[in-house]
This record gives sequence, C-alpha cells and structure tokens, in this order.
Amino acid sequence: MSGPDFPFLFPFSYASQSPPAAVTRFDRDALADFRALAGRIDGNGPRYTSYPTADRFHAGFPEAGYLDALDDCARDASAPLSLYLHVPFCDNVCYYCGCNKIVTRDHGRSSRYVDYLVREMVLVAQRLGTRRPVMQSHWGGGTPTFLDPGEMERVMAALDAHFDLLPEGEHAIEIDPRTVDDARMSRLRDLGFNRISLGVQDFHPEVQQAIHRVQPFAQTRDAVFAARRLGFRSVSMDLIYGLPHQTTARFQETLDRVLVLLPNRISVYSYAHLPHVFKPQRRIDTAALPAPAEKLDILVSTIERLTAEGYVYIGMDHFALPDDDLARAQRDGRLQRNFQGYATHAGYDQLGFGVSAIGSVAGRYVQNYRTLDDYYTALDADRLPVSRGFEMSADDHLRKTVIGELMCNGRLDIAQIEARFAIDFAQSFAPELRDLDELATQGLVRRDPTRIDVTELGRLLVRRIAMVFDRYLREAEPVPLRYSRVV
Ligand code: SF4
Repeated sequence: MSGPDFPFLFPFSYASQSPPAAVTRFDRDALADFRALAGRIDGNGPRYTSYPTADRFHAGFPEAGYLDALDDCARDASAPLSLYLHVPFCDNVCYYCGCNKIVTRDHGRSSRYVDYLVREMVLVAQRLGTRRPVMQSHWGGGTPTFLDPGEMERVMAALDAHFDLLPEGEHAIEIDPRTVDDARMSRLRDLGFNRISLGVQDFHPEVQQAIHRVQPFAQTRDAVFAARRLGFRSVSMDLIYGLPHQTTARFQETLDRVLVLLPNRISVYSYAHLPHVFKPQRRIDTAALPAPAEKLDILVSTIERLTAEGYVYIGMDHFALPDDDLARAQRDGRLQRNFQGYATHAGYDQLGFGVSAIGSVAGRYVQNYRTLDDYYTALDADRLPVSRGFEMSADDHLRKTVIGELMCNGRLDIAQIEARFAIDFAQSFAPELRDLDELATQGLVRRDPTRIDVTELGRLLVRRIAMVFDRYLREAEPVPLRYSRVV
C-alpha cells in the first residue's frame, strides 16, 4: 500500500469507544508524586524478566544440566511449552541498539544459520521424546524477517515436525517495517503467526536520522494495515524515549501517529546511553540527548496521554488496550513475566533456540553461546550449544513468585505464599519488610500482616519494590533506598 505520510487527523480514539468501567485515567496525584520522587528513588534496576536475573547465570552450568532439565520437562508429555527463536542478523545498525545482533548485507549467512537452528531443534526434540504442544512462540532478534520466505518456511517446517504449534496459542514475530511488504505479511500469516511486534522508536525525521533508523510513517502504517487485513490477532509497537533530539512536544507527535494506528500493545522503553558497553551508541551525539528533566517529562506525559486515550498501564513500560489479553490477565490476577516482558502464558517451560537464546526449563535457566562460531562448533559436535545457565534453589522459586506477583498483579497475598512455600513470611523476610516499610513511607506500597499492595505510585517504580526481594542484590550490597539520578 502506498500513500501520503500521516494523512490522518485522529479518526479514532479508544477513549471515545466507551471503554469498560475498570479503565480510568492514570491517577494524576500518583503522576505528580512520581515526577517529584523520580529524582530521588531510582526507577531503574533489573527488569526481572527472570529471577534470578540473567547476570547471575554462570559458565559453570554444563550441557548435562540442560539435558537433565529436558528429561524433567519430558515427564509431563502433555504440558504445553513456550518457544523463543533468535535470528541475530540485521541489514543496518541502529545506533541506540543494545541487542545481540550481527549487522550484515550478506544474506547467504542466514541460510547456514537456519541449518543449525534446525539441528538444535532436532537435538532438543529428541531429548523430549514427544511432539510437545506449544502454546506460545516468539521469533525475536536481530531482525527475524532478515530470513527470506524460503528460509522461514524451512524453520517453520522443522518446528512443525517436532512440535505441535497450537492454533489457539500466541505465535508472535518481531518485524522491522522496513523489511516487509503486503506479500511478505501475507506469507507470515500463512506460516501461522498471529501476532506481530513492530519496532518504531520515534517518528520524527531528525530523531530517526540521529539514530540511523529512517523509517517513514507510511511503512509502519502499511504493515499495521496489512496485519489487520490479514487477521493478525494483535499488533504491538515499541517506542523509545530519551533518544537524541527528542523533546516532550516531539514525542507527543510520535504518539499522535501511534494512536492513529491503535496498536493493541505499546511498549515505551527508556534509552540507556552506555557507549562503553554498546559500541553503536558511540555514534550518538551525547549533546543531543534530552536532559534528565526533559526525559522524565517525556515519560510522564506519555503515561498521561496513553492512559487518557484508554490504554491500560500494565507496568514496566507496557500499555495495552483494555480488551487485550495482557490487560485481561492483569485484571484476573494471572499476568506473569517472561524473557519477552509481560505474558499470559509464562508458566510454561520455555525453550530457547538460536545464538544467545535463553530458555527456562524445569527450574533451570539456560543460555546459548553468543557467537555464531561457538554456536556452530557445539552443534557440529552434536552438543547442545549451552554457554551458561543457572539452577534455581527453593529460595529462588519463592522470591521469583513474590517478585512476579508484585510486578504483574500489584499485590501479594501473604497467606497464599505461606501455604504454598511452607514459610512464615514475616520471619523469612524480616529485613525485606523493614525496607518495604521505608518504601511505604514514600507511598510506594501499603502493607499489613496479610497482604502487600503496590500503590499507583509504586507501579511506576515497581522495579524498586522488586529489588527489595532480590537476594543477590541484597547480598552484593545493601539495597540503597535513595539514589541521586533521574529515570
Ligand atoms: S535495534 Fe533491532 S533492527 Fe536495529 S540494529 Fe538492533 S536488533 Fe537490529
């Protein structure tokens, strides 16, 4: 589809469609408090897509540990699985990028990569022994659509041969709108994908130039329209704030355009400028980055705007329309976290395929080698390409549940936790509860002996609450309750 860039004047707003009664604007007092507190309490910290966090995984975790995990997983042959598949290649580098990717124009490299992905699937499936049902799959990257249609068909055929991808499940792929047209979108749908996630970041041309990701609005719009026409169940969009040349007013213009497209889910990530860690970021002009106060203003005004337009603030950078599965799961108290963020099916064992992919299987985290050479060498020797991992203890399981409940559902039923884990909560978490009381005085939580509730303000700083229960952070250093930096 072609057409003029951004021809619309807000033809549709979810807020105008009589949203369910539960949907309200974000509490304005909480936003005002957040604005005042964000400079003193750091909302940053681990994202807790896993607990323990990935920086605790260690190289001493052997391939045998993964094989044992797969054997444990195999005991319940009917239990659905979740799959993550990593495609590391990108045509161009975006300067803000902190992903594990390989920038190349040589599309010959992906054909070889697909051969190895298939080999890895065969090894894992053989160990599992049965064609397991899959309720959730996610292709991420890099740029999964770097693979040509034939390569994607090869991967999907291998998945189909070894796993039963349930049609009622969520099957998602991350898409760079610059790499797809209508025909490609149609093939993705035919392959069984029913959700897409689009990288956008910002629509302003000067910002796009500065981050080396020029992506006209029409390209994104066409991908969204194609997805709707083709019956994809859900469209997600990723934005980033804190990029060079962004201002609050400019970011509102980006939101204007995003809201025209009405994605089911919107993620708004904070840009962390770490050029000593991520080499591409050295090409970003530091002087053009928004000042901390402006960055905070972009975030607050974004939360205000999206919730005023009817989006539900799910937490930790994520928004969803009220009828989206994520919002429903949160209302029903069954939202969870996994490596992709918030999820409705995160309770399943997750298999990771591809270079650097992370899996979570039967109480073990497993991560593959990060370089193609190491990944290929292991598979050439018929070994699973495990580079590091972690076996969870009983205490890890307990803390993972506590952190997950607080981050996803905003509350903790203490009696339930005590019954499930056979503990006395007050005894097991005495120092944590003292720290929590400090956060209570700042308005982030409310607690009594039976429950902990995260306040509206606390939802905006929920990582800080989760950090209280992170044993590894506590052992590394006392968790500071006050910081000096802003967002
Ligand atoms: S942001 Fe995405 S598309 Fe850009 S270089 Fe990183 S992985 Fe590739």
